[in-house]
Amino acid sequence: MATHRTFTMLKPDAVEKGHIGAILEKISASGFKIVAMKLTQMTQADAETFYAIHKERPFFPELVTYMTRGPIVAAILEKENAVADFRTLIGATNPADAADGTIRKLYAASISENAVHGSDSDENAAIEGAFHFSGREQF
Ligand code: UDP
Ligand code: MG
Repeated sequence: MATHRTFTMLKPDAVEKGHIGAILEKISASGFKIVAMKLTQMTQADAETFYAIHKERPFFPELVTYMTRGPIVAAILEKENAVADFRTLIGATNPADAADGTIRKLYAASISENAVHGSDSDENAAIEGAFHFSGREQF
């Protein structure tokens, strides 16, 4: 099977709690190769654009406040079946529903502050990766 790419963010709550190392270790141990990565912070405009699909949802203002309140780790990951396998690795949006051993089960506090983002399609992985990384930052 051809390798594919997905995009992830370790969200502000995960960074605040000191979980960068543990989460990256789990990602690497699960067979994902890091092909781009940086510590960065989203502006309000960045978060509103990145999550534009959710702008009519009641949680949107809270989501933008959360995602901009501190640094995140943004990364592009490569693996066979990357998008689906990474969604499996992170677990359900609500950690209460996430399977044992998933990143959200281990590190997320709530459906809002859920530690990690994972793209939901190959198309969105490409859009989200390009949002955060120039061509020369991707290996
Ligand atoms: N979110 C929230 N409340 C909800 C649903 C989602 O605060 O009821 C936040 C949460 O941080 C989630 C993000 O909005 O990760 C995007 O929601 P989506 O449904 O796309 O979940 P995901 O794809 O991240 O699992
Ligand atoms: Mg989503």
